[in-house]
Amino acid sequence: MDFDLSPEQEEFRRTVRAFAEEVVRPAADEADRREELPLDVVRAMGELGLFGVPFPEEVGGQGADLLTFCLAVEELGRVDQSVAVTLAAAVGLGGMPILRFGTERQRRAWLEPLCRGEALLAFALTEPDAGSDAAAIRTRARPDGDGWVLEGEKAFITNAGTPLTRALVVTAVTDPEAGRHGLSQFVVPADAPGLEVGSPYRKLGWRASDTRPVAFRDCRVPGDALLGERGRGLAQALEVLDGGRVTTAALAVGLARACLEAALAHATARRAFGRPIGGFEGVAFKLADMHVAVETARLATLRAAWLRDRGRPFAQAAAVAKLHASEAAVACAREAVQVLGGAGFIEETPVARYYRDAKILEIGEGTSEIQRLVIARSLGLPEVV
Ligand SMILES: Cc1cc2nc3c(=O)[nH]c(=O)nc-3n(C[C@H](O)[C@H](O)[C@H](O)COP(=O)(O)OP(=O)(O)OC[C@H]3O[C@@H](n4cnc5c(N)ncnc54)[C@H](O)[C@@H]3O)c2cc1C
Repeated sequence: MDFDLSPEQEEFRRTVRAFAEEVVRPAADEADRREELPLDVVRAMGELGLFGVPFPEEVGGQGADLLTFCLAVEELGRVDQSVAVTLAAAVGLGGMPILRFGTERQRRAWLEPLCRGEALLAFALTEPDAGSDAAAIRTRARPDGDGWVLEGEKAFITNAGTPLTRALVVTAVTDPEAGRHGLSQFVVPADAPGLEVGSPYRKLGWRASDTRPVAFRDCRVPGDALLGERGRGLAQALEVLDGGRVTTAALAVGLARACLEAALAHATARRAFGRPIGGFEGVAFKLADMHVAVETARLATLRAAWLRDRGRPFAQAAAVAKLHASEAAVACAREAVQVLGGAGFIEETPVARYYRDAKILEIGEGTSEIQRLVIARSLGLPEVV
């Protein structure tokens, strides 16, 4: 067993950390306040090659593994959750199914511009009436001539409407009589006729990230928009979500770490009753618990990524990492605000933003309840619902 990162991974982590401090941090609070994705920051991330990290060199990627990608997501997530989730969603949810299930032509068409940082991708599964119960989606894709026509609505889609968005990976029902085996995935170009992208939601957190509803009204796509096998759409989506859970866990580790660092700095500098507040056991123990949360969340996250990188079963480990890291992030954010006192409640400090950003980590990519279901089932319990 080896807990050390390779020298290349250490170097990569240092590079992304420096980039996050120098380029991402200065824009983060303003972008959050304006509820606008900082496009120049996203473009700079592209120039650094971050959108190509886990993709093969044939499509312009870096050919690195998921673990290395998680390091980037953690470092960016420590500074700005909104830009970090923009990266995680474009790569882990939008790009991965194309890499995994796409044809050579689809990979070249969609992954090359993503790797160059010129294009963002989105993943459209959730609908107004179907989130956790993904098999209950109702968006239909009907064969029509040599193409398909999509009809329906999606909700809460990250990266759906940025100026850089090039395509959405959409899961739709192609064979209603086949139940769970009647769903398929499509790569729908952002300029497809009949694709209607709604206004951004106003959100509690991740405010600078782009999240919108999407509708398909007689939306026609060519036959080669089908991604992977007809009828395997749900299985493909769930497989992609397993990987996405690992990157969401990395986002959570980044946030938990940011909270620990902010609380530690404040507990050292702030004095009350003649001593630094970190000298009070009531505060010191919070910091100790936050440290434990960060360390265990990171271990669980990197282990899940490590399993995936070795082609080993990792669904249970991904659910453990996502559940634990997101709950750690929420707990750390709550305690960081407490340690900062009134200053933690004021939007002048990033800790208030961390507190707002934390909650979605327990919801997106499968809620905590769904992670517990996945884990309980993996223990062999019969028929847990
Ligand atoms: C900011 C943001 C970004 C998002 N980005 C994307 C995206 O890019 N692509 C995409 O497809 N989706 C995206 N989502 C959707 C997200 O994945 C869903 O919100 C999430 O999966 C939960 O689905 P839901 O909101 O429909 O809640 P529901 O499924 O309606 O769940 C409501 C509550 O019921 C609980 N529940 C449901 N079923 C069970 C059960 N069997 N046992 C116990 N409890 C249960 C849930 O845990 C939850 O607490 C995003 C959401 C947000 C808010």
